[in-house]
Amino acid sequence: MNTARIPAILIINSGSSSIKFAVFDDANLSELVKGQIDGIGSHASFKVKSPDQRIQETITWPKELAPQDHNAALKVILEWLHHALSNVHILAVGHRVVHGSAKYLEPVMINDAVIHELESFYALAPLHEPHNIAGIKAAREVFGDIPQIACFDTAFHRSQSFINDTYALPRTFYEEGVRRYGFHGLSYEYINSYVQQYLPAYFGKKTVVAHLGNGASLCAIERGHAVATTMGFSPLDGIPMGSRSGQVDPGVLLYLMQYKQWDAQRISDLLYKESGLKGISGGLSNDMRTLEASNTFEAKEAINYFAQHVQQEILSLAAVMKGLEVLIFTGGIGENSVFIRGQVIQELQWVGIELDTAANDSGAEILSNISSKVVCLRIATNEELMIAKHTHNLSTALPSESLDTKTR
Ligand code: AMP
Repeated sequence: MNTARIPAILIINSGSSSIKFAVFDDANLSELVKGQIDGIGSHASFKVKSPDQRIQETITWPKELAPQDHNAALKVILEWLHHALSNVHILAVGHRVVHGSAKYLEPVMINDAVIHELESFYALAPLHEPHNIAGIKAAREVFGDIPQIACFDTAFHRSQSFINDTYALPRTFYEEGVRRYGFHGLSYEYINSYVQQYLPAYFGKKTVVAHLGNGASLCAIERGHAVATTMGFSPLDGIPMGSRSGQVDPGVLLYLMQYKQWDAQRISDLLYKESGLKGISGGLSNDMRTLEASNTFEAKEAINYFAQHVQQEILSLAAVMKGLEVLIFTGGIGENSVFIRGQVIQELQWVGIELDTAANDSGAEILSNISSKVVCLRIATNEELMIAKHTHNLSTALPSESLDTKTR
């Protein structure tokens, strides 16, 4: 019977060869489980963790038995939920969608027309959007009519002014959609709401958030609204990342096309898969932990390159806001790398930002010392919780139609 079950929200983050998922209790938005299927279409594996990081399930399939597409992978997830979380019934599904173009300023209830429109954004995010939509379609097939909500990584940045939203190309390009959309918006929105709720003395200040993960960007937030960000038309722009280049002189691309006859696919592979930390470390790794553990000269240069670009962009965004009062580190590197946080903050000492070394070493929330002109914080991001909040808010505006996983 549904009455004895926990009403819950399922979050789906569907990537090119993975589906990440999380289940939240709808009553208090506490996380029940989180997991993912990686390697869809090849050597797929499935892992689920409880909120205290205990592994609840791991499965690695032989190739012939592995889920071959997003539909099959989603069915594996739902089967698992049905058996392992039989006390839960799913009220609504929230999807992470990378691109909402200039149209979607906030999350939206998914229907046929919305899907059709999101499909028209494929050209804006060819490596992500088709997989996000594949996840939405697979979930609609399984769940039928329960509310499904799309939450966009670009939406938070739509408060940017024209100057921070455009490239210096002829205006017709802006009008046709060549804009600085920005990404990691759900992470920035989460951090912003966390500060508002738990650290209100710092809310609304001139803030730079550095979301430093495998993908990495920074965002200037003033009076609680996004002002400017380092990623632009695509998630390639800005600082160097795990294997993405970050900003490159467009002249380099002209050179590759004109003198080396590289086509779009070859250039795409270079910029998305072979560059960034991986490229500068001489192919050693896109993973900061591996680089920090390495003694090679190239690994050290990759780390220093990354830290310097983070530091440069902090000051560049501060210049846009004409000030900086709060600096926040988040993402896998921002939350966990004592070395990168320490290096970035120490290099900013000349502008009056002062590191509290002991606080940084212990991973405290406040990283700067009392006399620092800028308060430096370390906050763990939670994009899934942000999606769960949006999904809860939008779906409770509706009559509570639900479908439990048993009655599929
Ligand atoms: P994300 O994409 O947010 O999951 O972040 C992944 C990045 O965080 C990878 O480069 C990891 O090496 C890095 N990372 C995670 N834990 C640590 C750590 N303890 N020290 C340094 N880097 C870390």
